[in-house]
Amino acid sequence: MSFVSVQGLGKSYRGVRAVNDFTFDVRQGEVYALVGPDGAGKSTVIRTLCGLIDSDTGEASINGFDCRKQFNHIKPILGYMPQVFSLYPDLTVTENLAFYGGIYGVVGPEYLERVEYLYRFSNLKPFADRRAQALSGGMKQKLALSCALMHQPKILILDEPTTGVDPLSRRQFWEILLQLKEEGVTIIVSTPYMDEVARADRACFVFRGEKLAEGKPAELPGLFEGTLYYFDGPPTMETIDRLNRLGDIRARRFGGGVHVYLKRGITLDEVTPALSEMGFDIKDFNPIKPDLEDCFIQLMEES
Ligand code: ADP
Repeated sequence: MSFVSVQGLGKSYRGVRAVNDFTFDVRQGEVYALVGPDGAGKSTVIRTLCGLIDSDTGEASINGFDCRKQFNHIKPILGYMPQVFSLYPDLTVTENLAFYGGIYGVVGPEYLERVEYLYRFSNLKPFADRRAQALSGGMKQKLALSCALMHQPKILILDEPTTGVDPLSRRQFWEILLQLKEEGVTIIVSTPYMDEVARADRACFVFRGEKLAEGKPAELPGLFEGTLYYFDGPPTMETIDRLNRLGDIRARRFGGGVHVYLKRGITLDEVTPALSEMGFDIKDFNPIKPDLEDCFIQLMEES
């Protein structure tokens, strides 16, 4: 039984399509990641779920309640962390928490207990009197998360909470999310970072408003079709252009090297004469296993 259900969601902004026929379900207690580049449509899906915008087509519900028509039933169980900085920069950490406590009606001893809990996992207590604007990027995000958790929501929806945050803080942030999952919180989180997908229970690849694929992080690379090689030569644009001139090959810069995809059914032996003719040494092509990013790029290029 799904806790969150999104069926055939469609949304355009002044004629520009942001999301098209988007469908997914999330079970209670799951961590579900929406992954995709800037402009893919992630925020549009999230804002619809959080009752902030109306979709043109389709339906979205949380805990059986329609996100548009019955949002008052969803509000008490929903914690939302928007992409834009949602805190009051002039207020201190404590004052921001108190403000959100007031909004959610968490007051008195219940508030004090809650703040202690939030300080425990966020490690923000030593910074309680610091203004929000003077916190580091990672700390700001932890404070925003704490505010979103003030009323003990059953579901947490986070829009790119780690974008622009340093790698260590990103890891710490995810540790907190996984701790919340242990406590039974359902989490939907969007991210442009492929390395974060592995921490989710399931992930959905989003591109140009469409769902490209969905599955467990360990299973998604299995969707890759064809064979993949690491080219152990200089990763220059000129090399990549030359490789791409061969129709059966797609070459892409990948970190410090080049990943070379052979289309399905094509073997390295078949393209060896052409590569040799172009001056490549076949020993520089080493077979590797595709990872999440290889899979995403292939799906993106085919879409
Ligand atoms: P993401 O969260 O993946 O970056 P968005 O949902 O924000 O993607 O955006 C999807 C598309 O919709 C983009 O092309 C974006 O420019 C467009 N878009 C989003 N919000 C608006 C808006 N308020 N007005 C016009 N276009 C928008």
